[in-house]
Amino acid sequence: MNKKDKKPIKKNDKKSILKNFLIYFFVFSIIGALLSFGNLENQNSEEVGINSFINFIDNNNVKEVVVSGDRVNFTTNNDEKKYFYKEEQESLNEIFTTYNISKETLDSVNIEVSNLSNRNFIFNILLPILLPLLLFFLFFIYLSKKLSGAGNKTLSFGQSNLKQINNDAKKTNFKDVAGNLNAKDELTEIVDFLKNPKKYTEIGAKIPHGVLLIGAPGTGKTLLAKAVSGEAGVPFFTISGSEFVEMFVGVGASRVRDVFDKAKKQSPCIVFIDEIDAVGRQRGVGVSGSHEEREQTLNQILVEMDGFGTDTNIIIIGATNRPDVLDKALLRPGRFDRVVVLDAPDITDRTEILKIHAKNKPIIKSVNFKLIAERTPGFSGADLENLLNESAILAASKNKKEISLEDILNSIEKVLLGPEKKSHILSKEEKKITAYHEAGHALVANFLENCDPVHKISIVSRGRAAGYTLNLPEKEIYLHSKDYYIDTIAMMLGGYIVEKELLKKLSSGPSSDLKKATDLAKKLITEFAMGENLPIRIYGEKDELFFLGNNTVKVDYSEETAKMVDKEIANIIDTAYNRAKNVILKNKKALEKLVEVLVKKETIEKDEFKKIIENVI
Ligand code: ADP
Ligand code: MG
Ligand code: ZN
Repeated sequence: MNKKDKKPIKKNDKKSILKNFLIYFFVFSIIGALLSFGNLENQNSEEVGINSFINFIDNNNVKEVVVSGDRVNFTTNNDEKKYFYKEEQESLNEIFTTYNISKETLDSVNIEVSNLSNRNFIFNILLPILLPLLLFFLFFIYLSKKLSGAGNKTLSFGQSNLKQINNDAKKTNFKDVAGNLNAKDELTEIVDFLKNPKKYTEIGAKIPHGVLLIGAPGTGKTLLAKAVSGEAGVPFFTISGSEFVEMFVGVGASRVRDVFDKAKKQSPCIVFIDEIDAVGRQRGVGVSGSHEEREQTLNQILVEMDGFGTDTNIIIIGATNRPDVLDKALLRPGRFDRVVVLDAPDITDRTEILKIHAKNKPIIKSVNFKLIAERTPGFSGADLENLLNESAILAASKNKKEISLEDILNSIEKVLLGPEKKSHILSKEEKKITAYHEAGHALVANFLENCDPVHKISIVSRGRAAGYTLNLPEKEIYLHSKDYYIDTIAMMLGGYIVEKELLKKLSSGPSSDLKKATDLAKKLITEFAMGENLPIRIYGEKDELFFLGNNTVKVDYSEETAKMVDKEIANIIDTAYNRAKNVILKNKKALEKLVEVLVKKETIEKDEFKKIIENVI
């Protein structure tokens, strides 16, 4: 609805600036033209004395005389234009009488008295007064227009930015959403409610008011909400939670009212509130100044949802990736009483998502999407869409007409780690250190039984990493053992260990490895209770104190315990370190061979890696 109003206003702004400019330009040119017209008679005309004029008359050398006010213009027989000034009150006749000009002499002269004097009056007297007035007037109109524009804005402040998506042309349906079978099942019910509300109300069933979609960013919440409206064939309004929040208390609440007023007019319909956590945060927490405002906004949403009668067929779909911070009141019956969780896509879903997005891209037929899905654990739907887009860009940059499997696989790393840094060329020394470092990771990953197998090693720098070792799980596993985590930490330390134990020279390279290892070790102790000697519990309370966007972890244990926690974390890292060190010291030969090949070729793929290891052993 507002989509229709809102955008044209912006365009109008531009248009009206142009229009104003044209109007002013036009007005000024007319004034300019008039002014120069007033001066026209001055041009090509020569001022003479009255005696000279009488001489011309006497000699019968005048064709025409035009009197305008005190000015007398005359044209000689050979078309010379001249003029002189007489006294204002003196008529031409009087002059002729004074100079004894006979009637016969004047017969051949065409004498005209023009009312040019009026024009002169306008130009000489009125214009100097009127012109500034006119300009002032125009300026005044311009100003008042501007001001009233601002006034309009103030008036529309409390109005919402509700956009209606008319997806008739590009309807989104459930078939455009891969996977998420559970979610689709639940929403099918909602679609049916919207299509045949009578069926439900007649039997006394209350139509649900709200559905909350929960899922990580890019898992298709927005997409799914659109698909619901597409399936049901009802209007779909969308607004983002952050659009309610303004600096001034009360604005959000009035925007909420506006949203629901607009929606009620078009019921049955769907109102989609994206990122509802922007307003739906727990009340009473947070230190930012806007929290009073957020509270009012949230209250207003609750009031509106409570106010829906059985005959109001509006379904609110909220989406969030932070369900943990949502106010519990939102989830009470009669509000968002349906919660639909969107999972990160598993390998089958990823294959399906890839197939959906491959439809409008020229991809070589033989491409095996399953293989790509295998290589992209943890990718969300949005990541996969981005992956295909990157591969299309890659193919186009090579002037190809079709996208190959190779293009897609090469783009995976780009999506994961950022683009290759062609400009950053490693020096020979850096290259060697990076090769040792990555070979260390790869060896540990290969020889520790709980690590994921190595897919690729590279010393081409990407994003912020100088090189990288890609090891990916063979199957998707949701639950991991402590052994798996320890070996993962060992693999993370592999690069550091080579630098420390073999090269005997540490660089700044492993710092992000160390951070990842530390974070994981901390998690094992404080969140998974995988310590040896600690009482079983969770250590540290995640607090939702949103101060400048940071959420802090509150220490909820004594200093004594803190020492023990530190010790346990150190233990985990120690165990991992020793496991990795063993592997590296035992396989020095393989390490040297890997470094040699890496320095030469920069990347080693899975199969070649296996061959190198087998040959050395
Ligand atoms: P969210 O709102 O959860 O952050 P979106 O719905 O905006 O995510 O998803 C972003 C894009 O990712 C969508 O436009 C769609 O192209 C793609 N996508 C995500 N999930 C899926 C899916 N299950 N099937 C097909 N495409 C998907
Ligand atoms: Mg979204
Ligand atoms: Zn590393």
